This record gives sequence, structure tokens and C-alpha cells, in this order.
Amino acid sequence: MTTANAPSTAPDAHPRIAVVGGDGIGPEVIAQGLRVVTALLPGVHLEHFDLGADRYLRDGVTMPPGLMERWRDEFDAIYLGALGDPRVPDNVQARDILLGARFQLDLYINLRPIQLLDPRRCPLKDRGPEDVDMIVFRENTEGLYTGIGGQFKRDTPDEVAIEAEINTRKGVERIVRAAFEYARRTGRGKVCMSDKSNAMRHGHDLWQRVFRQVAAEYPEVETRHLYVDVLAMEMVRAPQQFEVIVTNNLFGDIITDLGAVLQGGIGLAGSGNIHPGRVGLFEPVHGSAPDIAGKGIANPMAAILTAGMMLGTLGHPELEARIRDAVRACLEADLVTPELGGRLSTEEVGTAVLDRLG
Ligand code: ATP
Repeated sequence: MTTANAPSTAPDAHPRIAVVGGDGIGPEVIAQGLRVVTALLPGVHLEHFDLGADRYLRDGVTMPPGLMERWRDEFDAIYLGALGDPRVPDNVQARDILLGARFQLDLYINLRPIQLLDPRRCPLKDRGPEDVDMIVFRENTEGLYTGIGGQFKRDTPDEVAIEAEINTRKGVERIVRAAFEYARRTGRGKVCMSDKSNAMRHGHDLWQRVFRQVAAEYPEVETRHLYVDVLAMEMVRAPQQFEVIVTNNLFGDIITDLGAVLQGGIGLAGSGNIHPGRVGLFEPVHGSAPDIAGKGIANPMAAILTAGMMLGTLGHPELEARIRDAVRACLEADLVTPELGGRLSTEEVGTAVLDRLG
């Protein structure tokens, strides 16, 4: 599977990548991802940005003025480690950088491949790589995560809190279309849309209508709809049913964490925040893991696979495949960090992957 989300253009051998190691284990795992990227694409141009909790605590800056515009205009991709630090209780740096990028750069696709590389890492009985191989298109700019709402009579027994779910025709249509385009291009011919239209009669009815309308333009693609509660059950019961899943922001958030467990844990899950034709932001699914930061034991595989997604999206699907094969080989040989039962350090896993790039 490639995660390339746009029709392949002539690949750029000198892409410009903005690098933000961020907080906690972020810089440790990103360093290993960058070793792989520079080995495979020596002409890559990397620029490191000192952003995250340390920077914020030092000078109060989360996102310098004009930087988002620079990323938009001057870079092909942003490679991010993780953001989140117990010293910054409201994690304003994470909000400004990550959510800022998602919204300001209009990165409407959250792309999450769910691919089992080593059967021993799957918690499901008798399931192998052929059973767990799907990709989720999660809507990334609206839904329940826009912060629209309010509180009334706060801290009284009569308190009311409203969190509004935003579904626009434009927003729903473009994520649904992205899923169908991917299915058409890759020949992964099954798209499942998931909502809760039986209970959420307005917004999710819009999803239903848009899904049917877009699907009519892709007659070769097999379509299916599942309520999200049923989807969660089916992903566990028979994951081999799914190839491409498209859903809203909240449901996508939840089912992709379920998917991360199916593929072997968050130490193996990568993601991309994408708007085809624009700069994308690529980050491992895991957070900053402050409990293990600085110990040199964080699993860099998610960050390395994320780097593969980034290269795939930049027009190098063959490099993405090589990275995935190298990670698979390391998993099979138990060349892994302690949380997967191994003894290797973060850097040693990075070296093992590099050695197996072929
Ligand atoms: P955040 O709030 O930034 O999401 P978190 O610590 O709450 O951070 P995660 O970092 O996603 O959540 O992960 C939870 C736990 O999983 C971590 O505390 C850590 O023990 C483990 N973990 C996460 N990522 C890794 C990794 N790459 N390698 C090893 N263990 C990891």
C-alpha cells in the first residue's frame, strides 16, 4: 500500500522539509526518521525549527508570526515529532502549532494507514498482515473539533454546555472525494463511509447524501456504509473487510486508535495531515510520552513509517515501500525497543532499519 494521496507528479529529488522535533520523545524519534530520509534522498533540504514546550517556556513563543505562511509557501512537507509537556498544563504550544497548522493550512485529510506488518504484534487471534490492511480518511478541519459552542450557568446545578458539530457540504464532499480518488488510483476498490446518521439526523444525513452523490461518480468502487458503533465491532471481528474508510473528525480519531492497536500499537502508527497539492504535515500517532523521554528507549518505528508516508506523498512511493519493508524486517527479527519486548535503544532500532533499506 502506498499512502500517496495525490496523482503522482514528477518526484522532486530535493524536497524542502520543515522539521519540528517538538516535546518529549519527539526529537528522539524524529532524528531516526531523518537518518532514513537523508539516506534515501540525499538531496533533501531540511530546516529545523525550535518549537515546542522548551521554546515556549523560554520566550513565550509558540508559533512565531509569519512562520505558518513560510511553511505554506516555501516547503513541501512538515515533519513533526510530538507536542505535549507536563510543564505546560494547557499545552498551548500543541494547540498553536498542530491545530494551527491543520486549520490555517486547511489540511483536511487526516490519513491513517492501518497495516499490520508482523502478525505477532496483532492482538487479534489468528490474524495476519493480509487481514489488517486498510487506510482511514478522517475529516480533519470540522466536525466536533472546531471549538464552537459555549457554556451557560457555569459551575451551577443548571449548567448547560454545548459543543457544536460542524458539517459543511464542501467539507464533507472533499474528504469523501479524497477517499474515492485514492480507491480509484490504487485499485483498493472498497470504500466504507461511517457515521451515526440513525441518531444524528442533520449533520450525518448530509454525509449520507454527499456519500451517495460522490459514489455515483466512481461506479468501479464498491461502497458500503456502517454506523460507527458497528464499524468498531467489525474492525475487531473481521478487519479483512476493510480497505478504505472515510469518516468524520471525532469518529476518525477514535477508530484510528483502535486501528493502531490492531497494527501493533501506537509505536507503529504513522499519520499525515494533507491537502493535496499543498504542504502536508506528517507526524507519528503517539504523543510526547514524557514518562520515557530522554531515556533513549522510545520506539522510532512510527516516526520512520511516517517519514515513509511523507516520501510517498512527495512522489516517492518506492521509497515508502522500502522503508516499510525495512521496518517489517526489523519487527520480524525482534530488533525492537523495550515496549515491544526488545532490548534495543531508539538509535539502535534506527540503525537496524537503515541496515535493511536494501
Ligand atoms: P500526549 O499527551 O502528548 O499524547 P501521552 O504520554 O499522554 O502524550 P502517548 O505519548 O501517545 O500519550 O502514549 C502513552 C504511553 O505510551 C506513553 O506514556 C509511553 O509509555 C507509551 N508510548 C507512546 N509512544 C511510544 C513510543 N514511540 N515508544 C515507546 N512507548 C511509547
